[in-house]
Amino acid sequence: MNPEELLSYDRKHLWHPYSSVSNPLPVYGVASASGVRLRLNDGRELIDGMASWWSAIHGYNHPVLVNAIQEQAAILPHVMFGGLTHEPAVQLAKTLVEITPSGLDLVFLADSGSVSVEVAMKMAMQYYYAAGKTQKHKFLTIRSGYHGDVLHCMSVCDPVTGMHQLFSGVLPKYFFADKPECKFSDEWDVNDIHSLQTLIEQHHNELCAVILEPIVQGAGGMRFYHPEYLRQVRALCDTFDVLLIADEIATGFGRSGKLFACNHADITPDIMCLGKALTGGTMTLAATIATRKIEEVISATAPGVFMHGPTFMGNPLACAVAQASVQLLLDSDYSTQIQNIEKQLEEGLAPCRDLKSVADVRVLGAIGVVELLDAVDMASIQPAFVEKGVWVRPFGRLVYIMPPYCMNNDDLQYLCSAICAVLEEESAR
Ligand SMILES: *Cc1c(COP(=O)(O)O)cnc(C)c1O
Repeated sequence: MNPEELLSYDRKHLWHPYSSVSNPLPVYGVASASGVRLRLNDGRELIDGMASWWSAIHGYNHPVLVNAIQEQAAILPHVMFGGLTHEPAVQLAKTLVEITPSGLDLVFLADSGSVSVEVAMKMAMQYYYAAGKTQKHKFLTIRSGYHGDVLHCMSVCDPVTGMHQLFSGVLPKYFFADKPECKFSDEWDVNDIHSLQTLIEQHHNELCAVILEPIVQGAGGMRFYHPEYLRQVRALCDTFDVLLIADEIATGFGRSGKLFACNHADITPDIMCLGKALTGGTMTLAATIATRKIEEVISATAPGVFMHGPTFMGNPLACAVAQASVQLLLDSDYSTQIQNIEKQLEEGLAPCRDLKSVADVRVLGAIGVVELLDAVDMASIQPAFVEKGVWVRPFGRLVYIMPPYCMNNDDLQYLCSAICAVLEEESAR
């Protein structure tokens, strides 16, 4: 197919994320990618600010990752995980148990982030069922959160941005605390925990878990909150016998400046979900990691097993490349790299603060956010970014970037100045 035929067939027959086929927005064909650059079918090159939705932390086509996939493909691309095991899964589990907060000991491999959240929620429900506290099956979360697109995950996404009204009567009704207002580097404000504390005090008899994104609320608003909030949630969960599920799918593997966002508060959740950057952006894989206590309680009561098992659970290709990606990260000086990106983003995005259309500019780790007063016009802003030679994909009022960690200062500065320039042009339109 030539590039025009490809795009024309795509327009008629393919559904893209959050898109309409009848009323399509521009879509670009990618021919290849390497390092921090995407190469389009028409020959143009774009500096990638998105790392393919937080995942391509080492950039594209990294030889170590490509090699891990090729080697494993020649040995065993897949085998069922029921009753069978293999070295890539065991190696990866060993690594994940070692690097996640101590106490997280049992790894359930899932095939996407949403599934790992669904698994975490089922674990929490089955835990209290097995413990004989069958009334504890509801969830408490915080507004502005995002936990995935399948129905049960949707029930704990922000009710407004998660479009709960479209699915009313279908989604279970859970409890939503006010979102934390105290910012990451603000002085801690004791009132910030009040809403969540009240809900947990009132409803702990019905609650199996609090589920939240630690420190960084991603797709629900790109907000960075205070580590003390997370510490206090941990303490409240302990006091009221409620499990804590930390959804680190976006934050895991260094993005917020620490290996895991939970490390900012030095807490161990009862269950942690990992995904996105787990395979360095090459294949779909996620993990739900739980404490031994959860497993022991579930196993002690009939049916005596945890009731979940995806067909492609523990896919050897995905496990092998995940192990290679995590090892690559651990062998690198990611902490210094991310500190440098943080500094570059702070400097590079600062001029956006002077634009009339901008409400806030914030940076944490390798995440840069420009929040606007009004929603962007995707039909004009997306081509404007491509014209400038950068790949940035805003949503709503948020223009944000989370570049691959290997991006050099020149590319970071170019990316930031392209964002400032496009926003200035757009606000003048
Ligand atoms: C992306 C994301 C998910 C969903 O992961 P998928 O792989 O898209 O299913 C869940 N939680 C958080 C915090 C995410 O950022």
